[in-house]
Amino acid sequence: MSRTVSIFNQKGGVGKTTTIINLGAAIGKKNKKVLIVDVDPQGNTTSGLGLNKRNLNTSTYDLLINETPIKESIVKTSAENVFLVPSNVELAGAEVELVKLENRELRLKKALEEVYSEYDYIFVDCPPSLGVLSINALVASNSVLIPIQCEYYALEGVSQLVDTIKLVKRSLNPSLEIEGVVLSMFDGRTNLSIQVVDEVKKHFRGKVYTSIIPRNVRLAEAPSYGLSVIDYDPKSRGAEAYIDLAEEFLELSEEEF
Ligand code: ADP
Ligand code: MG
Repeated sequence: MSRTVSIFNQKGGVGKTTTIINLGAAIGKKNKKVLIVDVDPQGNTTSGLGLNKRNLNTSTYDLLINETPIKESIVKTSAENVFLVPSNVELAGAEVELVKLENRELRLKKALEEVYSEYDYIFVDCPPSLGVLSINALVASNSVLIPIQCEYYALEGVSQLVDTIKLVKRSLNPSLEIEGVVLSMFDGRTNLSIQVVDEVKKHFRGKVYTSIIPRNVRLAEAPSYGLSVIDYDPKSRGAEAYIDLAEEFLELSEEEF
């Protein structure tokens, strides 16, 4: 059985996509089979893993709206052992279209049930909103991984985010839990970054990963080559940080299994 984890924070630009690509690639390198589902109409995870988002046969849109079997949408990526259900801008319409459909919050869960036995980990990249696409991700997941950027107002919006998780837990997915919190874009030269780490650790007692992701230009460059940083520059600080995070993630999530 796979463990399904949503990467969720309704703020944009906090490192969700960077985390899903590089954590996924680092876990794939450890001989675990990984499926990533891109549920963001921006499709940055899709292009960051080497797929052309203008040229997709089927995508997350078809799976949610047309109930196309998930196996028809799964493609290989540039990262070892990492597979993908890709997405593109077509998915932007799904938020509105889903409202009219039956079981609109359960569609991703239903689709993923077909492949639970084939993957060790399924990661779902959420869009920067609290709408029905994100709800689909949370309903389909065992847990939520929350990236938080080390910047001013890091905790702004966090209470809404936690409220959304609680709402889904109460109404649609009672076993949903917080997997962990990843601090991203840390700059050790600034007091601000150090303060944010303290604040976030106080807020999410015991849930914050020890591996912190530094600001690293290699992480920002890698997606333009369609590669994870682990394939683009394995010796970079960004790659090392995500490899450490993967080890910590695997240790903790396997304890919970
Ligand atoms: P989200 O998916 O939450 O919107 P992204 O992962 O796309 O956030 O990150 C936003 C931008 O910041 C992207 O251009 C990405 O390349 C860059 N970025 C993310 N994490 C880092 C990092 N640790 N160091 C440098 N740049 C980063
Ligand atoms: Mg993103």
